Amino acid sequence: MAELRFSALKELFTREPVEVLLPKETVSTYFAVNVFDKLKMERYLSKEAFRAVMTAIDEGTPITRQIADQVATGMQAWAMERGVTHFTHWFHPLTDATAEKHDSFIGRGERGTMIEIFSGEVLVQQEPDASSFPSGGIRNTFEARGYTAWDVSSPAFIVGTTLCIPTVFVSYTGEALDYKTPLLRSLAALDHAAVEVCHLFDKDVKKVIATLGWEQEYFLIDEALYYARPDLMLADRTLMGHPSSKDQQLSDHYFGSIPERVKAFMREFEYEAYKLGIPVKTRHNEVAPNQFECAPVYEEANLAVDHNQLIMDVMRRVARKHKFRVLFHEKPFAEVNGSGKHSNWSMATDTGINLLSPGKNPKSNMQFLTFLINVVKAVNDNQELLRASVMNENNSYRLGGHEAPPAIISVFLGTYLSGILEDIASKVKDKKMTPQEKTEIKLGLGKIPEILLDNTDRNRTSPFAFTGNRFEFRAVGSSANCSSAMIVLNAAVTRQLRAFTQEVSVLTDKGRKKDEAIFQVLKKYIIDSERIRFEGDGYSDEWHREAKRRGLSSEMSVPLTLKSYVNSSSRETLLGTGVFTERELESRLEVELEKFTKKVQIEARVLGDLAINHIIPIAVGYMTTLIENVRGLRDIFDDNDYMRLAGARKELIVSISDHISMIKKLVGDMIEERRKANVIEDPFRKAVAYESRVKPYLGEIRNHIDKLELVVDNEMWPLPKYRELLFTR
Ligand code: ADP
Ligand code: MG
Repeated sequence: MAELRFSALKELFTREPVEVLLPKETVSTYFAVNVFDKLKMERYLSKEAFRAVMTAIDEGTPITRQIADQVATGMQAWAMERGVTHFTHWFHPLTDATAEKHDSFIGRGERGTMIEIFSGEVLVQQEPDASSFPSGGIRNTFEARGYTAWDVSSPAFIVGTTLCIPTVFVSYTGEALDYKTPLLRSLAALDHAAVEVCHLFDKDVKKVIATLGWEQEYFLIDEALYYARPDLMLADRTLMGHPSSKDQQLSDHYFGSIPERVKAFMREFEYEAYKLGIPVKTRHNEVAPNQFECAPVYEEANLAVDHNQLIMDVMRRVARKHKFRVLFHEKPFAEVNGSGKHSNWSMATDTGINLLSPGKNPKSNMQFLTFLINVVKAVNDNQELLRASVMNENNSYRLGGHEAPPAIISVFLGTYLSGILEDIASKVKDKKMTPQEKTEIKLGLGKIPEILLDNTDRNRTSPFAFTGNRFEFRAVGSSANCSSAMIVLNAAVTRQLRAFTQEVSVLTDKGRKKDEAIFQVLKKYIIDSERIRFEGDGYSDEWHREAKRRGLSSEMSVPLTLKSYVNSSSRETLLGTGVFTERELESRLEVELEKFTKKVQIEARVLGDLAINHIIPIAVGYMTTLIENVRGLRDIFDDNDYMRLAGARKELIVSISDHISMIKKLVGDMIEERRKANVIEDPFRKAVAYESRVKPYLGEIRNHIDKLELVVDNEMWPLPKYRELLFTR
């Protein structure tokens, strides 16, 4: 058994960095060569088609069939010049992965000949037989058809010899079955709501986009060791393993020099990313051993999400070439830091203004503060929904650990901005203000820019932190499709901005001057959302007590957290903004609950199998050696010596035997609980049963195995140990 582990370790001694041959040219010369972007469209499309596509991107106008045909022809010509033979609609089902089904360009021409064809019809819409994707009851079998439809706002790209067309995935009856559909709806809703608010300050703004810059954390594990860990292969995380004596205590991995084999991998996947137009910029070692991060320059949110999904794919592929496996799981190893996908989010206008960046004069700062305070209020009013958007089985192991962000949602603004908010709250009067009072407030606002950017405190413990010109939502998990968090954030801010416009107009209708009305509404928001602002240590016990007093949720149960998707406030946010329909929302919750249940079920099965088939036989084997040893002692020593010598060995035998019995019993009990939970029909009650009655066994069984790992002969232990997984590369 231990053979696999030792041959893997031996293999590692001979590993060399894979040679990476990159072009000598600078990145800008091959950036986006595999993307059908604006430049290529201009070259390959007629003027008419090009203009139509541009308007469709900017204004969301539909594309006619005739234009679609022209685009298809241009796209195909470009793709075939680059050796492409197949095309696929590329979409984001509710699985955290992307899906594709390749079709060749080949089609029947005249008189039985075969030709390469690609028409507007297939560009615009496809009907993959995708009936096996999770749909939460929306698509029962007789309407199993789902449609994919072209997302004009994200450019087509080439992977290998396949042209990939980003698409939404909807049911026969038009309901969203994916992440992209609600994401696009949330972006459109945010656009409208934010433009209206911008118009209070600047009539020139016509469009507002959300911007997203994700920071992708991941672990790298050597392929040979990975194959020797069935739990990593099947459950994406280690279900057992005693902590290594040394792991991250000395912080010697964080920002350390990047190991050569890893650097070769990074250079190659970055090269592949550049060709796909993904602007990766930052790479570094993370806190845990063998943990790394990659971050791009931010982009429009829909494109950024596509690029994140795409880069995870690219990384997986390139890793194999370098004999690595990338682990995107939020908590692949107990006791060391998990991985997140910090999502840096802001809003930008078509006039080139970042709405969360302080401006150059009091008026633009007032606009900045308006958006800032509205976001804070939106987070305050939707804290439970935001938690739900990032909570799942994987991430539950990370949130609430003494690392990354705590599971309680709070907003960090830094002392300076907090001071400004306090100032507004205390100086703005609810009655009509004197010119003197107004001037005083505006003067205070004029000063923000010089101080802010270099003065934002860094609070690493906050799940939602303002970092100078954007918010950083840190609770998002590393394996997640970040749409889930972005949909909720966009919808929450949309609802909030709509309310703001409404409240300001009520005051101006009553005869208040516009500025005064804005200040008065902002003041109210500042006071109303005081509880969500927190500047202290998010890990501390005091904060947990304080947060409870403030009425902030710290619910750690995954099903209960997910349930907030459908509470009355969440409904108002998600249904009121048109991001989901009632049926979609219900089904989304069902899908999430089922995903949770299935993941716990898989982990329980894998752990049970490994415990019985791998661990117990080895422990019994070692125990037998000890017993023989004791018997031998009795043969050659007299009673006194024997008693003295055999004591410790006998204790060891007893302790190993106890662990074996316990493991056996716990696995049996766990299977029994699973059997009971499996017959529950209701997805929520089933998830609760899995969480409260099955999941606890995972930790308990693991404890006994980890104890055994410490005493059983290292030569016999079958699974690569933490010190090997984390320190070899
Ligand atoms: P840190 O680790 O200090 O948070 P990084 O450089 O790792 O910084 O990541 C910062 C991320 O924030 C980058 O992806 C960057 O492009 C992104 N970002 C910067 N400005 C904005 C913005 N206005 N909107 C969205 N993301 C932004
Ligand atoms: Mg960051």
